[in-house]
Amino acid sequence: MSGDMLKEGIVPGRLSTGQYAQNFSELHPPLGRHEAFVEADRCYFCYDAPCMNACPTSIDVPLFIREISTDNPLGAAKTILAQNILGGMCARVCPTEQLCEDACVRMEAEGKPVKIGQLQRYATDIAMEERKQFFTRAPGTGKKIAVVGAGPSGLAAAHRLSMHGHEVTIFDARPKAGGLNEYGIATYKTPEGFAQAEVDYVTAIGGITIELGQALGRELSLAQLSTDFDAVFLGIGLGGVNALRAEGEKEGLHGLQDAVDFIAELRQATDLATLPVGRRVVVIGGGMTAIDAAVQSKLLGAEEVTICYRRGQEHMSASGFEQDLAASKGVTIRHWLQPKRVLTEHGKVTGVELEYTELKDGRLAGIGRTITIEADQVFKAIGQTLEDQSAAGLELNGGRVQADAEGRTSRARVWAGGDCVDAGDDLTVTAVAQGRDAAESINRYLAGI
Ligand SMILES: Cc1cc2nc3c(=O)[nH]c(=O)nc-3n(C[C@H](O)[C@H](O)[C@H](O)COP(=O)(O)OP(=O)(O)OC[C@H]3O[C@@H](n4cnc5c(N)ncnc54)[C@H](O)[C@@H]3O)c2cc1C
Ligand code: SF4
Repeated sequence: MSGDMLKEGIVPGRLSTGQYAQNFSELHPPLGRHEAFVEADRCYFCYDAPCMNACPTSIDVPLFIREISTDNPLGAAKTILAQNILGGMCARVCPTEQLCEDACVRMEAEGKPVKIGQLQRYATDIAMEERKQFFTRAPGTGKKIAVVGAGPSGLAAAHRLSMHGHEVTIFDARPKAGGLNEYGIATYKTPEGFAQAEVDYVTAIGGITIELGQALGRELSLAQLSTDFDAVFLGIGLGGVNALRAEGEKEGLHGLQDAVDFIAELRQATDLATLPVGRRVVVIGGGMTAIDAAVQSKLLGAEEVTICYRRGQEHMSASGFEQDLAASKGVTIRHWLQPKRVLTEHGKVTGVELEYTELKDGRLAGIGRTITIEADQVFKAIGQTLEDQSAAGLELNGGRVQADAEGRTSRARVWAGGDCVDAGDDLTVTAVAQGRDAAESINRYLAGI
């Protein structure tokens, strides 16, 4: 253990340069050509394949795997991208163990599914490296569409609208496009500027302009967009973070931070050694964000990292794979604990007091007994919310934009998809599916079908 790992407080440079590079290297190295053939040969090419039904974008998995097995990776990429234009990112970030690979018949028979995600990556990487574009634009329709949000849902919508011949302008509040692909997904799942490379690949179809630093509710209003454009698609995600509702929690408290902001800083850091992290870190939450904040704190050199979740292991939204990954990196996960008080000394976090919980008649309740965990850094990862004003004028449901199965909102000519809608399930692949399907709905509306 290096000496800096034991330094108290939130400090940068806990590790050596070599350790940072090693810790943040890619989780799954890509398959080579021979490995891809061997893996593709394991597929039974099922009729009415369950993996295809389990994929939110309904990629024809048996077909693309057969194309790989006949040494036609570009054909495979076309099959994938026809359904999911962000197939490259999804290959890296989909929780396949809950989706396509969980449905694989080899999973049921042997507990070892075909590596669908890795095969998908093999094919799409080749297409992107060769800058191969498979889709062209239909003749121009003269219709203009505003897409707000350059995340997975907005990009998928923009690409499909452009294919139909419409002119698309994407507005995004941030300085870079890509949404959580650029600012949220864990570094070890998508290193080396892949998110930006994919934005470039998707927009290379043409007919798409991106305007950055443009926020709905600040520079833009829904009323103005509805006047200037024939239709509007909102893919604004969930930019706000829920409060802990614990005593002592206050804005700007040194050591108390939103996990999503920490991850965004990490994703944008050019030198990980400059990124400060606590010696003892506590993460409050039970989803993918909690796992990512905890694992990356550990990889940055935190000595002790503990995730505290208010319900049981079986209730965590982070997949079994993600939980195992955290455990393998030395993160402790504790259950049935809810934050009661953030402890401070001289304006700095020193720990967190948590109350044990239980389910009583189906409802979660504190049981009165507490424990204290020392920490110099506490991350909030207890879910995100719509940012104030961003969806003003739209009906909400459960704090998200109400949208029907096609993505139509309560307002005429305004569609929405991805994390910001009530049907969103906080996965990249679902956001892509909803953006694509809303684009089809917009196209039908504009064509008067
Ligand atoms: C830390 C973290 C890790 C994750 N890891 C995974 C994973 O491993 N696998 C997985 O499948 N999913 C993961 N997810 C979930 C996944 O990232 C999201 O489901 C997905 O990005 C949603 O896409 P979206 O397009 O709806 O929204 P986002 O990706 O959030 O994009 C929304 C875009 O809208 C912009 N925007 C927001 N408000 C405004 C406004 N008012 N005006 C203009 N622009 C605005 C934002 O800047 C952003 O670019 C993770 C999420 C987080 C937070
Ligand atoms: S997009 Fe995701 S869920 Fe669908 S087949 Fe590919 S890896 Fe599986």
